Amino acid sequence: MTNKQAAIRIVRQLRDAGFEAMLAGGCVRDMLLKRKPKDYDVATDAKPNDVAKLFRRTLKVGAKFGVVVVLIDKIQIEVATFRTESGYADGRHPSRVRFTSPREDAARRDFTINAMFFDPIAKKVIDYYKGQADLKKRVIRTVGKPAERFGEDYLRMLRAVRFSTQIGFAIEPKTKAAVCDGAKNITKISGERIAAELEGILVSPNRAEGLELLIETGLAHHIFSGCGCPGAGFAVRMLANLPKRIDFALGLAGLFVGFETDFALGKCELLKLSRNQEKQIEFLLDKRGCLLKELSLAELKLLLSEPYFEDLFALQKAIQKASNQTVGPLIKLRKRIKQLKGVELRPKPLLNGHDLIALGAVPGPSLGQLADEMYIAQLEGKLQSADDAKQWVTKWLQAHKNYDSV
Ligand code: ATP
Ligand code: MG
Repeated sequence: MTNKQAAIRIVRQLRDAGFEAMLAGGCVRDMLLKRKPKDYDVATDAKPNDVAKLFRRTLKVGAKFGVVVVLIDKIQIEVATFRTESGYADGRHPSRVRFTSPREDAARRDFTINAMFFDPIAKKVIDYYKGQADLKKRVIRTVGKPAERFGEDYLRMLRAVRFSTQIGFAIEPKTKAAVCDGAKNITKISGERIAAELEGILVSPNRAEGLELLIETGLAHHIFSGCGCPGAGFAVRMLANLPKRIDFALGLAGLFVGFETDFALGKCELLKLSRNQEKQIEFLLDKRGCLLKELSLAELKLLLSEPYFEDLFALQKAIQKASNQTVGPLIKLRKRIKQLKGVELRPKPLLNGHDLIALGAVPGPSLGQLADEMYIAQLEGKLQSADDAKQWVTKWLQAHKNYDSV
């Protein structure tokens, strides 16, 4: 069963029990745009308790706000009671939720194209705020007055840019002007919510246009407290030259490629990234330029075995293109990499610490250096067997005879 079939089954079951029920929000927009919806949400006049009673398996996670998750097989569908939200004291969370009509439910939604319902049985679109007209015009427009709607929830400003980026629509001029006016409030929103929308923008193939909008509206300036604007043109070109499909951390590394690693990581603190994402950004920014050098075989093998090597390659390629420099060294490197196919990049060292001591090495700092140098020689292909390694180590010890006593 697909998510869509599961959602329609839920609609039918609610209808059979005498309730109103429809598909709602993003999935209706995407179906009309012939895009694949990410998820299918159901809206109904049944109260959370009614929904919980009607379906065998439910999660009442957001029941207070009128949302119940219905489980069908392994599929989770959000079933939300038609509601209005009011009293956004903090520009984030509505303090009151009231169950109401579909028309009022549509009115609480952010943009006209997100405020439609679809009756999958009569195959009818229910469109109170001219969402279909805006889909035709290809614009993002708030439901109601933009300044008021952004004042209720500042995140909507960033959502406007995210939707514009993802579906390639313009932001309607009055809506856009209100984003520019309100941009300074964006940091009142939690870092996690900002990160989720920013991720949607940066992973989109259309991310360069997204960044231009973030800069134009002032959102970029406020999210990253002023940085990025001098090098903005370069950052936009960087994002345009990254591969179509990338993850959030590579997108951020692209955005900050003109800055020092620590500065970039500092700017990302607000986003509450995971430790792994931070490590990825750190690696990518620290290793800028490495792939252009004449790498030894050992250096290449060590780099290649890094988990984010392909991201580094993509980032360097984008840097070359964005700054009108040759990608020649990268093409050469790719050929070298192809020749390494099937070669073990990080083989076990031919000798371990005990072996080295048995050969006369003295425990201490020089032992570590010896082990490292031997491993490099092994990766360079100079040592094929443990016997080769023993000979090499014996020579090394002779050459470094007085090493530990000085
Ligand atoms: P996506 O395909 O990216 O999930 P979506 O439109 O489904 O896009 P969601 O964030 O999943 O977006 O929200 C579902 C629906 O809930 C939206 O289409 C919109 O109608 C409404 N909505 C979500 N967040 C807000 C908000 N901050 N303010 C007003 N309405 C919102
Ligand atoms: Mg959604």
